[in-house]
Amino acid sequence: MAKIIDGKEISKQIKEEVKQKVADYKAQGIEICLAVIQVGADPASSVYVNNKKKGCEYTGMKSLSYELSEETTEDELLELIDKLNKDDAVNGILVQLPLPKHIDEDKVIKAIDPKKDVDGFHPQSVGALNIGQPGFVSCTPAGVIELLKRSGVAIEGKECVVVGRSNIVGKPMSALLLRENGTVTICHSRTVNLKEVTKRADILVVAIGKPKFITAEYVKEGAAVIDVGIHAIGTTPEGKRILCGDVDYDSVEPIASAITPVPGGVGPMTIAMLMNNCVESVKIQGR
Ligand code: NDP
Repeated sequence: MAKIIDGKEISKQIKEEVKQKVADYKAQGIEICLAVIQVGADPASSVYVNNKKKGCEYTGMKSLSYELSEETTEDELLELIDKLNKDDAVNGILVQLPLPKHIDEDKVIKAIDPKKDVDGFHPQSVGALNIGQPGFVSCTPAGVIELLKRSGVAIEGKECVVVGRSNIVGKPMSALLLRENGTVTICHSRTVNLKEVTKRADILVVAIGKPKFITAEYVKEGAAVIDVGIHAIGTTPEGKRILCGDVDYDSVEPIASAITPVPGGVGPMTIAMLMNNCVESVKIQGR
């Protein structure tokens, strides 16, 4: 039976630590402020944005909310980012993705001052992570590292396999595991004999966006399995959403040494790490 890695509990611990740091800064006269920008009213994005605002409220940070219409032009958005970049009272700038099709996401990400890039998506933040320099780290993979560390799963010297190579999860995840001295392999849709590779993993991180794809056949006995995926696969008779991950939990849990559930595993960590990045911004900005 696997140890269940409780992301709800660990994210709570992190938010409590952040809350304390925010209060300490406040006592020194420093108020931490996150600006959240949403363009359009995509319902899923609205839920994420709302959770981020709640996270700020809980930890005692100030949040500035910019809810822009779907018709906002790229220039208007870039102008707002420029204004926030120059505003010393703003520590972090977050633009909720995806953006409407007429706006170039790469251009928007690059427009954010890397010192305020609390999502860790700016090429400078990505570069810094890869060459071991200080900078913001993408929140979800940073959350995975915290889950492993705080659950007593050692990374150093371990065979770590990451399935998925997206810019926001797979690639930074691999860089972080490498930074922790894991021996890292990255898999993707063109990987040949995926099962053979994943079966080598002491630590298997799955971020492919395919419900219950990773079954017990892909997992070595005793591996720690981290499931980043999240999918709504139906609703209960009471109207509650039924969620699952990229890992087939029921078949993998009996052979893993540790596993994250969905929901309640990686999901809650993303906001906690975002809050943590906002606090870290004070140091990164040299205030
Ligand atoms: P992307 O769709 O951007 O990337 C998916 C990756 O998986 C790609 O690199 C793709 O390979 C790879 N892949 C797809 N199919 C296979 C396959 N059959 N075998 C091996 N590799 C495969 O997804 P994201 O990284 O953005 O997200 C992954 C999952 O994590 C999603 O379910 C998403 O909802 C969830 N997520 C959860 C977060 C959280 O807070 N918990 C935050 C972010 C994401 P290739 O590059 O070759 O196409």
